[in-house]
Amino acid sequence: MSQLRLFQPRYLDSSHSETDPVILSFPQVETTSTTSIFSNAVRRAEVIYNNRFCPSCNHPEVEPLELDDGINNRNGIPIPGTCTLVGFHCLDCHSEWPL
Ligand SMILES: [Zn+2]
Repeated sequence: MSQLRLFQPRYLDSSHSETDPVILSFPQVETTSTTSIFSNAVRRAEVIYNNRFCPSCNHPEVEPLELDDGINNRNGIPIPGTCTLVGFHCLDCHSEWPL
């Protein structure tokens, strides 16, 4: 049977007595990157939804025009939705429009 040794450091603050609970502080976890990724995905979905019809011929088949700056996964394949969206292309009349 193993024994677990516990380490109880001396109180750093002399105002605490031995019976007072000690509140330890931990570094705050940064959540802005997750929030930023989520808000970017929502914003991207809104832009694609708002540009789902061609403004010239009102055709519903449009494709997004993206830069080649996406994040690659470990297999070297770009992760969908990570490329910069710069415009759209109509598959019917071949017109293009920027964002
Ligand atoms: Zn069109």
